[in-house]
Amino acid sequence: MKWVGPYRLRHLLENSVNDKQPWPPEHNGVYVISQKEWTELPTADCLPLYAGGTTGKSARFCTRVGDLIADMLGFFGKETGHHSGGQHLYDFCEKYQINPLDLFLGWAEQCSCFRCAETSIVNNLAPRLNRKAPPQCPKHKAKDYKKKPLTTASRGTRE
Ligand SMILES: [Zn+2]
Repeated sequence: MKWVGPYRLRHLLENSVNDKQPWPPEHNGVYVISQKEWTELPTADCLPLYAGGTTGKSARFCTRVGDLIADMLGFFGKETGHHSGGQHLYDFCEKYQINPLDLFLGWAEQCSCFRCAETSIVNNLAPRLNRKAPPQCPKHKAKDYKKKPLTTASRGTRE
């Protein structure tokens, strides 16, 4: 897993056709929106607001980030929208009079399992606006971990 960013949203949008600007991958990532910048990897110190990944089974990571940004900036209505997390972010920004373009967006890419990565990141950061737990990974259920006896060889190697 590799962390990229974070980039101030304003900066990211201004550089959408700049080849030197890293961009969210098409698939297999987990994004984090925070109020402050972080280095190397996000922690509670960056005031994480929202984290998420791919929904459903489709390869839609970059597209989900686009959905998120659209709704963060207020492009949704009472009946229609793209991303509930983006709408929570918009409401938060409106309430505290924060410009959404001043928030930071970073992401983890090349995750060995994006579902498990999302669960681990959301559990670790406890972002302020995440209201429900990420979907459970169908491949690596928590109970499967418990079944595995810890041997000397495997001790400490579990992610
Ligand atoms: Zn998994």
